[in-house]
Amino acid sequence: MHHLTPGVSQAALPPVGRECSGRQRRHTVSAHDHYRSNGARRQRHALPHTRTESRTPEAVEGDFDFGRVIDGKLHSQPVWRLITASARAAEGVASLFGVEPQRRPVNGSEQLEVVSQEAGLQVAIDGPESLTTQMKSWDSRGLAHHCDGRVFLSPASRARRSCGCPSLMEERKARARLGHGPQPITTLLLRLTGGPDLGLFRFRSSSWRFAETVEEIRTQLADLRGPSLCDLAVEAVEFTTSNGRSVCYQKPAVRVLGPWTPGTPAGLDT
Ligand SMILES: [Zn+2]
Repeated sequence: MHHLTPGVSQAALPPVGRECSGRQRRHTVSAHDHYRSNGARRQRHALPHTRTESRTPEAVEGDFDFGRVIDGKLHSQPVWRLITASARAAEGVASLFGVEPQRRPVNGSEQLEVVSQEAGLQVAIDGPESLTTQMKSWDSRGLAHHCDGRVFLSPASRARRSCGCPSLMEERKARARLGHGPQPITTLLLRLTGGPDLGLFRFRSSSWRFAETVEEIRTQLADLRGPSLCDLAVEAVEFTTSNGRSVCYQKPAVRVLGPWTPGTPAGLDT
C-alpha cells in the first residue's frame, strides 16, 4: 500500500476518466493542502546537477491545478484553476481568464478559486530550476524516503547519499506500485505571460507521466538560458489495457515555445 502525497493533486493518476469516458474520477478538495503562499517553505531542492540559487526565494502567490469542483468534489477536467489567499492575485487572474473569482473552502479555510475556461495556459518559466521532481514515500512515522531519484534530499544525515532508487522511471513506478518505493512530486513555478506582475504561481503534480517528461523540459529550458515562454496544458490520455478495458485520464504537459521577456506578447515570436 503506497501512501498518496499530501498536498499534491492526484488528478493525473490512472485509472481515471473525464468527459472522454463519460465518467469522472474524483479526488477530494482536501488534496489541495499546503497551498499557502510561503515562499520560504517552497521546494528548493534542485536536481543534483543544477545549482540552487542562494537569493531569497520569491513568494508563491497561489497554486494552479486542473479540474472543477462539483458538489464539493474536485473532478478531473481539462480546465486550470487557481487557489489563492491573495485577493489581488485572484482578481488579476480572473480578469485574464474573463471569469469571476469564487470563494471556496479548502481544508477548513476559505480561499479564492479562479477557474479558466481552457485546457492551456501560456506561462513563463524562469529556468530549469523552476521545474523539479522529488520522490517521496511515507510510513507510519512520517516521511520515509525523500530523494531526487538518485540521492537522498533529507534527512540531513543522509542527504546526498545514494538512495537506491532505480535509474529508470519505469522501474521506479513498478516499485512504487508494489509499495516499495517513493512517488514523484513535480513542482513547477510559473508566471502568467498575460500578467507577469501578478507574481509567481506553483503547480504540483504526482503524475508519473509528467515526471517522465521533466528532464527533457529542463534541458530545453536550460538551452534558452533565460525565461521561457511555455504552454502548460491538460491533455487527455486514452488507451486500452491488455484486458480490453478502456482507460482515459488527464495529464499535465509543458511545451517550451521559446525565449520570453516581460512585455513580450504571448504567442508572438520575439
Ligand atoms: Zn530514492
